Amino acid sequence: MPDESPKAQVIRRQSRNDSANALRTTRSTFWLVQNCIGAENCEMSTIAATEFLPLVAAAGAAKDSIVVSLHDVAPSTRQIANTIISELAHRGVRVCSLLVVPDYHHQGLFTTDRQFVSWLRDLEADGHEIVIHGYFHERPRRAKETLGDKFLTRLYTQDEGEFYDLSYDEALHRIVAARDEFRAHGLKPRGFVAPAWLLNEDVERAARDAEMEYTTRLRTVCDLRSSKVFPARTLVYSVRNNWRRGLSRAWNATLFRLPKASSLLRISIHPSDHSHAAIWKQIIHLIHGSVGSRTATTYQEWIAEQRLRRGL
Ligand SMILES: [Zn+2]
Repeated sequence: MPDESPKAQVIRRQSRNDSANALRTTRSTFWLVQNCIGAENCEMSTIAATEFLPLVAAAGAAKDSIVVSLHDVAPSTRQIANTIISELAHRGVRVCSLLVVPDYHHQGLFTTDRQFVSWLRDLEADGHEIVIHGYFHERPRRAKETLGDKFLTRLYTQDEGEFYDLSYDEALHRIVAARDEFRAHGLKPRGFVAPAWLLNEDVERAARDAEMEYTTRLRTVCDLRSSKVFPARTLVYSVRNNWRRGLSRAWNATLFRLPKASSLLRISIHPSDHSHAAIWKQIIHLIHGSVGSRTATTYQEWIAEQRLRRGL
């Protein structure tokens, strides 16, 4: 290379820096454009979009999936929840969707228990997902309930269908309050699951308006941005008495043996399942039979993967 004057060297260095800056600018513009396209397609706010996109990039497993969700996580169930999470990890399920109730049965807001909050933060950092699971997980009985109301809120669930007949305004208020409390403590909930999966249309709209990405029901998973509903019935146990436990085991074993209807297998666990040996044994057995052919993931990662596949 011919000798250059000091001035020429400075200009060349500047030009090299300019090229590098231009490349960086191009990359930033690319990401910015990508983010904007994602935000437009998903109809979410810029903040929600930019937070969700890294998950989209991380998703992409080709295998079928299994999502194990642990319900009713709260300070009072932390110990047993921790045992369940450890046992699942030993069986190959290293990430779960953790359905956390902000003020479980009015026992006190989770934020007042610092150890609980830091335990949740550690779990989220390890890849588990924090999901908003109602606010109180309780529904006061109303006057003049129909037989259908009574069946769903008292027999199917024990007065825990908090969002079953909540108004849009009240549902929005509770979900936003829960979301903001989690966020203020460094947690990033992206899904809302109503207690006992009981929610009306207004509640679903409220969850969408509260920037929730998805909700689930007993038989489906719903992407709240695209309104796409994925059929995927969850396995779940009722352990309230002997006949329910017996029926649950037979029913779930049958569901599990049915020809595969969905690429997503859902198993919903409640803390009380762990104290019934036969139930817990079956859950572990079903998980053992699934993790070889399915990738254990969380609902938010699974939704991100579906969006990626559909080009959203
Ligand atoms: Zn629950």
